[in-house]
Amino acid sequence: MPVDPPLVFRFAPSPNGPLHLGHAYSALLNARFAAETAGRFLLRLEDIDPVRCRPDFERMALDDLAWLGLTWETPVRRQSEHCEDYRAALERLISAGFVYPAFLSRAQIKARAADPTWPRDPDGAPLYPGDEHDWSTARREAAIASGAPFAWRLDVARALAAVGQTLTWHESGAGPGGETGVIPADPARWGDVIIARKDIPTSYHLAVVVDDALQGITHVVRGQDLYFATAVHRLLQVLLGLPAPRYHHHRLILDAQGHKLAKSDGATGLSELRAAGWTARDVRAHIGLAEGS
Ligand code: GLU
Repeated sequence: MPVDPPLVFRFAPSPNGPLHLGHAYSALLNARFAAETAGRFLLRLEDIDPVRCRPDFERMALDDLAWLGLTWETPVRRQSEHCEDYRAALERLISAGFVYPAFLSRAQIKARAADPTWPRDPDGAPLYPGDEHDWSTARREAAIASGAPFAWRLDVARALAAVGQTLTWHESGAGPGGETGVIPADPARWGDVIIARKDIPTSYHLAVVVDDALQGITHVVRGQDLYFATAVHRLLQVLLGLPAPRYHHHRLILDAQGHKLAKSDGATGLSELRAAGWTARDVRAHIGLAEGS
């Protein structure tokens, strides 16, 4: 039965490599949920990284998705065309004092984290040590004026104190440990996470929450690798007064050795499989999403 207003789903790949079977699973699952609920299916290109994202990967992605038999609403939202939306959200976080400039480079953080007991985020990256958290406004302004590169980091402790409520999300899929239902969000596990950079007024985390809200996404259906990132997304949504979509994290498609698929692994790339004679039906059957199943 159609649901009114319609549920809104999105598949949001980053065009930084060829799509593989894991992307096919995510895209087809989103489209299936949309079809089953007479909902909407949107495609969003998450191309804020100008170094890794390329127009040829974007063209390949659109070709692969069409080959799978998918159709989506147009125009497709391309994040690189909407920096002003992210800048506006960033400005709000800056004026509220929820982010601060941090100049420590990734290499400097990595050097500190040579100590095996150094705390790490859920993706295994070393946590930012917080050196610049307590800098005075004058020191921050002087450092920015010096022209040094920096990142805007979220002051998680301050943000959580301001939010003053237990953050949760509604999960209808499952976390890596089978978690489902109402999930407590723990953004502090990510430390003072990067929200934007000096030259790019956003990060994955900020762009994804701004876009999900602007596009009226009601259900975020994506891989389990993004399960823990949802905690950061919920915090940003509350800080920015954005609605909370429901979340469905799905299983990852693994290779024969049980590893997560990588964009660099041609063997599972959709265009490679197509060239090797696979049909869209073969892909569906292989990933357990055969039509009528
Ligand atoms: N662009 C992200 C990726 O390709 C997905 C973002 C999301 O679904 O929230 O991994």
